[in-house]
This record gives sequence, C-alpha cells and structure tokens, in this order.
Amino acid sequence: MARIGDLLAASRTFSFEFSPPKTAQASLSLGHTIAELAPLGPSFVSVTYGAGGSTRVHTRDTVLWVRKETPVSPMAHLTCVGHTREEISSIVSTYVEAGVHNVLALGGDPPKDPSEARPSEYEYAIDLLRHLRADFDLSIGVAAHPEGHPRSPDLATDRRHLAEKLRIADFAITQFFFEVDHWVRLAEDLASLGVDKPVIPGIMPVTNLDQVQRMAQLSGAAFPTWLRERLESASTPEEVRRVGVEAATELCAGLLEAGVPGLHFYTLNKSTATREIYAQLGLPVA
Ligand code: FAD
Repeated sequence: MARIGDLLAASRTFSFEFSPPKTAQASLSLGHTIAELAPLGPSFVSVTYGAGGSTRVHTRDTVLWVRKETPVSPMAHLTCVGHTREEISSIVSTYVEAGVHNVLALGGDPPKDPSEARPSEYEYAIDLLRHLRADFDLSIGVAAHPEGHPRSPDLATDRRHLAEKLRIADFAITQFFFEVDHWVRLAEDLASLGVDKPVIPGIMPVTNLDQVQRMAQLSGAAFPTWLRERLESASTPEEVRRVGVEAATELCAGLLEAGVPGLHFYTLNKSTATREIYAQLGLPVA
C-alpha cells in the first residue's frame, strides 16, 4: 500500500476524509459514498478517530475494510487524548500487520465533561508523533491550523509548535478555511521557520450554513462576511448547496494556482459536493 509521503513526493494528491460508521445502515451508506467517489481516483482516504478512543473499533474496522476491499490507501487518524502508550502501540500494530502504514497523529480535544477524562500518557500531538516515529515504520501526518489553533495564545506560538511537529512528520493536513491567503501565509511562515514539508489544505464545501458556522466557531476558522452574504442570498437549501460548492470550487482553483501539494476534502460521508467540485475544476474522472 502506498505511503502518503511517497505519493506527495511523486505528484499532487487528492484525498477524502470519512468518519467511521457506527451502525449497519451508516456502513451501507458509507460504502455507497466510497463507491461513488472511486472513479475520482483518490490518492488516499482518511478515517477519523473519536478523541479518547470513542470510535476506536469503528475507526479500525473502517480502515481495515478500505485496505482489504478497495485499491485505495487508507490513513488512520489517531488522537493522544486519554491514551496510554501501550494502547497506542496495540492499535498501530494492528494497522502495520494489515499493511496500513499511514497515520495522522493528532492531539484531539479533551471531553466537554471533565469527569469523562481518562489518564493520558501524552500531552500534545508531538508526544504521540515521537512515540510513533521511534517505534514504527510509518508515513505520519499532523494537523495544521492556518488561522491558529483556538487554544494557542497567539499565531506565532502555534506556528512554532507546528514547525516542531513538521520537523518529525512527513506532511500536514490543515483545518478547513475559506481564503487562499490563509494557506499562502501558513506556507510562508513555515518556510521562515526552516520547514518545507508538504501542507495539504483541508476543504470543507458549505452545504448547510448553520452546520458550517458551528464547526468554524469550534475550529477557529473565520467565516468570512463575503461568503455568509453569498450564502444568505440563496433562497432554498438547494441554492445554498449550489453556492457553497461554487465557493469551494473557487477556493480549490485558487489553491491549485498557489501551488498546494494536494487537496483534502472533508466529505462528511457524502459524495455529491466533492464530485461537483471535481467536475467544475475539470479534474480527471475515470
Ligand atoms: P496539538 O499539536 O497537540 O496542538 C494543540 C494545542 O497545543 C495547540 O494550541 C498548539 O499550539 C499547542 N501545542 C502543541 N505542542 C505544544 C507544546 N509542545 N507545548 C505547548 N503547547 C503546544 N480530532 C479528533 O478528535 N479526531 C480526528 O480524527 C481529527 N481529525 C483531524 C484532522 C485534521 C486534518 C485536523 C486539522 C484536525 C483533526 N482533529 C481531529 C481535530 C484536532 O484533534 C483538534 O484540532 C485538536 O484540538 C488539536 O489537535 P492537534 O493535533 O493540532 O494538537
């Protein structure tokens, strides 16, 4: 199975992110979405992980299913919140034995209810990253936050922590954002810190205004007025979707022109928006 670091060294990557299904119905639906996206020939697909291990089994099963049943390389997300080194080693050993060598090493967020917190042997994503690098032969990605992570005191501090992660990791994937300049500035800041590892922008097409505004608030991404106004001028949910896909296509086109190493689509387990963006960008479809 391809390693993402090697794929990025060879050419631009196009990848899709899914959440692991928790019911039989959701599994069928995700299988359908993956079948619909297969003709787009993704470089890899990634599967999210519930911080603290809440989707541990579902994430593993989905990653192993993709590895076994499809020609696409999977990447497993892994968060360090609430995990011991032994638990992480056990999870990653299962992946390596199955031929999965791509992992996204994440901090994760502490549970909203502090009484649900489990003891953790890691504090930051970099602690998990160091463990994985020392004990396993993997292609490892990390999260990047173009507008700064919400828990960071300031952008410069967040950039220094990201640069530290990227000196060890092979690549980063960003939180979603809506302006090309955010990626350009991130790449420039990293270059000035001596880091030139690939940073793949994460793309979130807006198909539901309320949902994306909530997610943007949590992730620290600014929801620009021009985009809100464009979406609010749409009179039906279908029209909102159309405008959202159009705006995401413009963002992707600008990013490709700016020289991004790839595009990573947050699919929310649906295929339509991503397929429409592909078509509007004129990207090849089998
Ligand atoms: P970290 O790198 O640990 O950073 C967290 C904060 O600590 C930042 O403010 C950073 O500046 C600071 N920091 C980092 N290192 C240090 C240090 N050495 N000393 C002091 N401060 C430090 N969450 C999930 O639960 N499951 C997922 O599957 C998932 N997938 C994601 C995929 C992508 C592409 C992205 C961008 C995010 C994803 N997240 C996921 C969300 C992520 O877990 C949260 O954003 C989390 O709050 C931070 O993760 P991180 O890996 O950036 O953490």
